[in-house]
Amino acid sequence: MCGIIGYVGEKEAVPILIKGLETLEYRGYDSAGVCVSVSEELNVIKKKGKIAELKQLPELSQINGNVGIAHTRWATHGEPNEINAHPHTDSKKEIAIVHNGIIENYYTLKKLLEDEGYNIVSETDSEIIAHLISKFYSGNLEEATMKALHFVEGAFGLVIMHSRERKIVAARKGSPLVIGIGNGEMFVASDITALMEHTKRVIYLNDDEIATLTPNNYSIKTLDGKEIDKNIDEIKWTVDQMEKGGFKHFMLKEIFEQPESIRNILRGRVKDNSVNLTLDFDFKEIEKIVLVACGTSWHSALIGKHFIEKLVRIPVEVDYASEFRYRDPLLDEKSLVVAISQSGETADTLAAIKEAKKKKAKTIGIVNVVGSSITREVSSGIYLHAGPEIGVASTKAFTSQVVALLLLSLYLRKEKNLSIDKEILDGLESLPEMIEKVLDSSEEIKKIAEKLKDKKNFLYLGRGLNFPTALEGALKLKEISYIHAEGYPAAEMKHGPIALIDDDMPVVFVCPKDDTYKKIMSNMEEVKARKGNIVAVINEKDDKISELAEHVIEVPKTSELLSPIVNSIPLQLFAYYIADFKGCDIDKPRNLAKSVTVE
Ligand code: GLU
Repeated sequence: MCGIIGYVGEKEAVPILIKGLETLEYRGYDSAGVCVSVSEELNVIKKKGKIAELKQLPELSQINGNVGIAHTRWATHGEPNEINAHPHTDSKKEIAIVHNGIIENYYTLKKLLEDEGYNIVSETDSEIIAHLISKFYSGNLEEATMKALHFVEGAFGLVIMHSRERKIVAARKGSPLVIGIGNGEMFVASDITALMEHTKRVIYLNDDEIATLTPNNYSIKTLDGKEIDKNIDEIKWTVDQMEKGGFKHFMLKEIFEQPESIRNILRGRVKDNSVNLTLDFDFKEIEKIVLVACGTSWHSALIGKHFIEKLVRIPVEVDYASEFRYRDPLLDEKSLVVAISQSGETADTLAAIKEAKKKKAKTIGIVNVVGSSITREVSSGIYLHAGPEIGVASTKAFTSQVVALLLLSLYLRKEKNLSIDKEILDGLESLPEMIEKVLDSSEEIKKIAEKLKDKKNFLYLGRGLNFPTALEGALKLKEISYIHAEGYPAAEMKHGPIALIDDDMPVVFVCPKDDTYKKIMSNMEEVKARKGNIVAVINEKDDKISELAEHVIEVPKTSELLSPIVNSIPLQLFAYYIADFKGCDIDKPRNLAKSVTVE
């Protein structure tokens, strides 16, 4: 959440900062701003709305300086307006800061500062940091920042500059920051996407670390001043992967990338009728598994529970990461906690993993972004290798997470010396082709979307493994089209939501031919009897379905465990096309941000 970029070097800072903000915009887009120092004076330009609006301001082209910081905001404290937009400065306009996170004791600090005569102008929690640093400043920005942060509680990714120091200082606790090392120039950003154009050499800051960057040098210390030597990592993603490649939106591109992202997660892991993962714990000791995640990743966890319990016969709990750590979870060294997060930066999931470690549980991560915070907390994990996911509504990361959870189950089965069903392995191998077939029917799905685009409510129903598919389908629709949609286990409908059904209510059934098929057909009859408008996602045609459903989407038949993956693709497309017909801003849906780095 929120995108930060900082630059110090010989080039003009403004174009670099603006370009960086554009690549980070998926992290927040309610307001944006830059600060560049020119002749020992800070020039701050801010604007409510998207980066495009900031970019149009003529005064931007008038600041020529080569040290600067910038921010695209996702408001937590104070409405999105120009005053609340970052960068924030101290009253003397000598210090400017950009902040990602939440300062939990900001109210107390604000009162203290106001009592001392500081003039706080915005409603944000962030602004107090600029004043606090100013209070401790006596010629050394790094030192003043360390002193100030001593009083700050909460989460921060902070980048700071001073009008008279040709450097930028970055500090982190809970919110991600990565340093980019260039030739005669240094960068810092919320994530690597903003750096890739400039350098592939990066250093990930850890919690409680502070970096000081000058054009030719950097130093990294702990927040209490101890120097640390950190590894430089090499970014593997390419700039091409970050572009839309002819698709109208990143989300559509990412939906169509799924055959490839599935091939990538399987590569090298499924071989000789076996599954190879590098997981660093002794599975034989594990008596219970807890999957922690948020949003879409939580849906993949619900599917993962089916996989693990069915294939490994170990009890699995699925928890919202945000709830997990506050309920004093029952964990010990015989528990395995699996964190699932596309970005690897989800604050709630990161906190859940820290809690699990405190309780001595083993931890692993299922993460897409290499080197992200969660990957550095867990002892080992499974990378998705799905490539960058820019669209705020997750698609390819979701299907890869489900595959990762299936691989984990098969691996655990192997560890238990149980055989692995060849049908599942063959199914995994042919999964990319199956997905390609679903993608081939995108035009038909688009036609159905056009017919239903003006409906105000949707119900999504599924059973067993495909109940989470229904939840995910409903979430996709509400995220990007703002249509109210709910997912329900099909049989639960009669315990409440059935009251909503009338001839204006579309009901999307996910109903592959599996053990639950007959039961779900009865649920479909119940909807039809109340004149509901049925869309059925099926994997085998039959007359009964054609009679009951107004719209039928057929997907290829796969092994039962893989059906949630194949079934979720048409639901992604359906949500996408509805949102596109409605003219919604699909890659940047209102109020949402890609990587949720606040709790
Ligand atoms: N809490 C800060 C604000 O509301 C930072 C939010 C962000 O991470 O964008 O301005």
